[in-house]
Amino acid sequence: MITIAIANQKGGVGKTTTAINIATAMAATGWKTLLIDLDPQGNASTGLGIPGAARENTSYDLLLDQATLAECAQPTEIPGLDIIPATQDLSGAEVELVSVDDRTARLTHALDQQTRGGFAGYDVCFIDCPPSLGLLTLNALCASDTLLVPLQCEFFALEGLSQLLQTVERVQQGFNSSLGIVGVVLTMFDRRNRLTDQVADDVRDCLGNLVFESVIPRNVRLSEAPSHGMPALVYDHNCPGSRAYIGLARELIGRLPENRKAA
Ligand code: ADP
Ligand code: MG
Repeated sequence: MITIAIANQKGGVGKTTTAINIATAMAATGWKTLLIDLDPQGNASTGLGIPGAARENTSYDLLLDQATLAECAQPTEIPGLDIIPATQDLSGAEVELVSVDDRTARLTHALDQQTRGGFAGYDVCFIDCPPSLGLLTLNALCASDTLLVPLQCEFFALEGLSQLLQTVERVQQGFNSSLGIVGVVLTMFDRRNRLTDQVADDVRDCLGNLVFESVIPRNVRLSEAPSHGMPALVYDHNCPGSRAYIGLARELIGRLPENRKAA
């Protein structure tokens, strides 16, 4: 199983939208996929049609070692896609974990246990991170093989990114030396907006091939889909946003080590 954190400490940049739709696209391609909702707002859970009342064992239980991964994962309407949902409880975990040993490695242990147990579960696991660089995101970065960064093309995009990259370096030095960055995806792209274009050029100049060629356009279908409890890829699989996420998934698969799927 390859584990991919979807992180950016800025809110509203398209992390959850990317998590939901890329996980759906990967599942549709035949990858057994798990999505861990690690944001107390639970938007990924809602967006995949899991109402609050149906969130029994959550990512909070997983982090606090109150349930195993198999006990927390539940199926979604999408064949091949399971989710570990989140509730508001998770906001307490950030505080509760402060006094716990190994507090940045809780998620790592939970995922390791599963793989060590020979659980022939998932090919890929995505982690939808909250909009901060606190303990929840640190747990995600420690537990992940690689990081996918959604970046909104706006004026301060690069400043925010450098802060994230510093955190990645700290994690690589202290906790998880094999953490990679699989790519940066430009989100909410608006071709008619000159500033957006300028920022996209700057980001590509600065980061080169790290930036995915696929760009996610600003598309109202992407923002409508969650209120129907389904991924845009199901709500309207042919809208520009869905097509962009299918392209991104294809590109992402091309960047993953080939042997990982079966491992
Ligand atoms: P984050 O998880 O980073 O906070 P979200 O994915 O929740 O960001 O996106 C923030 C808001 O913008 C949501 O209302 C979402 O539906 C909307 N949104 C995200 N991506 C797009 C897009 N490409 N086009 C239009 N709306 C988008
Ligand atoms: Mg989110």
